[in-house]
Amino acid sequence: MIKFLDLQQVTAKYKDEIHEAVNRVIDSGWYLQGKENEKFEADYSAYIGTKYTVGCANGLDALIWIFRAYVEMGIMKAGDEVIVPANTYIASILAISENGLRPILVEPSIETYQIDDSKIEEFITERTKAILIVHLYGQCAYTEKIGELCKKYNLKLIEDNAQAHGCLFKGKKTGSLGDAAGHSFYPGKNLGALGDAGAVTTNDKELAEIVRSVANYGSTRKYVFKYIGRNSRLDEIQAAVLDVKLKHLDEDIAIRKEIAKYYINHITNPNIITPIIKDWDAHVFHIFTIRCKYRNELQKYLTENGVQTIIHYPIPPHKQECYKEWNNLSFPITEQIHNEELSLPMSPVMTKEEVNNVVDILNHWEITSWEK
Ligand SMILES: *Cc1c(COP(=O)(O)O)cnc(C)c1O
Repeated sequence: MIKFLDLQQVTAKYKDEIHEAVNRVIDSGWYLQGKENEKFEADYSAYIGTKYTVGCANGLDALIWIFRAYVEMGIMKAGDEVIVPANTYIASILAISENGLRPILVEPSIETYQIDDSKIEEFITERTKAILIVHLYGQCAYTEKIGELCKKYNLKLIEDNAQAHGCLFKGKKTGSLGDAAGHSFYPGKNLGALGDAGAVTTNDKELAEIVRSVANYGSTRKYVFKYIGRNSRLDEIQAAVLDVKLKHLDEDIAIRKEIAKYYINHITNPNIITPIIKDWDAHVFHIFTIRCKYRNELQKYLTENGVQTIIHYPIPPHKQECYKEWNNLSFPITEQIHNEELSLPMSPVMTKEEVNNVVDILNHWEITSWEK
């Protein structure tokens, strides 16, 4: 079977260095808030191009802490609105709700699957405080128009960079384009830990300090508590693993791009829509998406032919039970993407033969009359 993502192989690729790093931490006797966090934070800041990186427990927390910091700074308050794409993973939206803020969903573009910048302005009110862009599937969602809207209406620009480490917009990394960014190092992400991990990047010193504090019980000095915080820290072992993998991230992204190019150039089945790529620097192919009207039949066919695929995502946020108040709203483009999207195997450990086989199997798929 061709796996969607073979995490065992992903780790095995840098096994010696990872074992060395993990053993170093085990032997050090120091497991939290130490040298490994410091080193990874410095290296990640240099990589992303921000002054500060603050490690935390996971990507959802990273986003939660950014909004929490703005609440603590008095820049946002309960009931304020945050614009966010309707087509995203639920975590982007949870981070807004968690802080008592109101997510305002905006449709994506059917060409890029990213928030449609021409539809944002009509949703801006006097309560709007921020735009949360999500670099979904690993593609840059930032546009100059979004930057201009933030300036014009004095909005914070926050990035959900969980899927796009290493992605560029005109030479600048995503995660450095706005006021603050949340990153996830969930094992399956392009830069993945061996468990949960996350970080906030920013150039804002005050925000960085508040994030560090609220993620550590709200403490500013040991046993002195300024905020009602939580425990959401990054383990030393994970920081050490991430620092190893960060060094190899660009080579891994280059392999993802080669695979994506091969898919795009060789998938010729007319029933399948491959992504439109205008700027190859602006996509790191965390997920390789195709669209197909008969998506469920296609997925079944691929499974039967030994190709594992995943749907990102089967149910849009506004149709989820946790957001009942939105269940009757209509977001046709978001719904279309959720109905048609299928993610092909993609990872830096796929072999040429596997990629070639996936293409071959896809090109041999025919829609039979019962499927129509
Ligand atoms: C993975 C992901 C998150 C959450 O990250 P965790 O580390 O799993 O908490 C947030 N947003 C997006 C778009 C993601 O893909």
